[in-house]
Amino acid sequence: MTAREISVATVPQPLSEISVDILYTGGTFGMVDHGDGLRARPGLGGEIADAIAQFERASGIAVRFDYTELEQVIDSADAGPGTARRIAERVRSGIADRRPDGVIVVHGTDTMAYVGARMAFELHDLDVPVVLTGAQIPLGQPGSDAMSNLSLALNHIAAQTVPGTFIAFGAALHPAVRASKRASDDYDGFTTVREFIRPPTPPRLPEIPPRADSPPVGLFAVFPGMHPDLLDAALHHYRGGLVLECYGSGTLPLHGHATAAAIRAATTRGTPVVVITHCDSGAVDLDRYQPGRALRDAGAIGGGDLTREAALAKLAYLVDLGISGSGLRRWMTTNLLGELSNHLAIQPIPNHSYN
Ligand code: ASP
Repeated sequence: MTAREISVATVPQPLSEISVDILYTGGTFGMVDHGDGLRARPGLGGEIADAIAQFERASGIAVRFDYTELEQVIDSADAGPGTARRIAERVRSGIADRRPDGVIVVHGTDTMAYVGARMAFELHDLDVPVVLTGAQIPLGQPGSDAMSNLSLALNHIAAQTVPGTFIAFGAALHPAVRASKRASDDYDGFTTVREFIRPPTPPRLPEIPPRADSPPVGLFAVFPGMHPDLLDAALHHYRGGLVLECYGSGTLPLHGHATAAAIRAATTRGTPVVVITHCDSGAVDLDRYQPGRALRDAGAIGGGDLTREAALAKLAYLVDLGISGSGLRRWMTTNLLGELSNHLAIQPIPNHSYN
């Protein structure tokens, strides 16, 4: 699929009856404000049942659904490194138990693109659509978009067009590996960044059981005035790997040799560094400028046109699988699910190994 966004209008003839697993994890969709700001609240099952009945009346589609909640529903700003994996496990076991036509995960918008991207990697082998959705205004409040976003997700499942993990929000469905939150004040809260081009034959990832004790993986954005010690601290803390969000085609303040030396030390310790760009268009090209070459020579991996959310999700996923060294470099620069599109900007492997 090459469309930048899949418009609601392109959803074809839906099924007249669907079965859906609905997992509520928190977020504005179900929040209330008791005077100290919006907070996630549990026990949304009755309201979801009412919303489904409303959808059935409006669409003519009958919905059988199984509703569950996370043990603790959260403001998604509290999502941790294991949140997406836990949600993905719940999704997978529900599919194994009930074989629904699709799964809807109600989630907060703040980290929906991060969690969705990680879920896309975790659930890449499923043939059932998984749709994350949420709201800018809580369900039942004036002007709420919760009902229409839920309907968009249900319609997508009824359409049975594409498996994979998507975000249904506002007027569009966004492939999770290309999605980014763009607005906190607009019903169209998400955008699809760059092209979504699924590989014709998805590469088969090695079947390695995930590690329970993976080292942490993080994200660091460069900025004018960035002190090299700050980057060095991030490289030490996130010893599993660091996504380095750079300028333009992959540049950053070099501070003489300090920055490159910190990155070289990290890659030599076995900490992969993946360079992405903060631009919404274009890709990393580490050959273009001298700072890019310094990054490349220090062992950094060019992250092509990965979004920050997908880069973090993919790096953490591969590290959790225990993949390292040249294998990690190869998988990071291979389009697995449509998360990468600009192969021209992928860097050749330099004569350097960090294992
Ligand atoms: N802070 C909320 C969350 O991410 C925002 C939202 O859901 O729109 O949980």
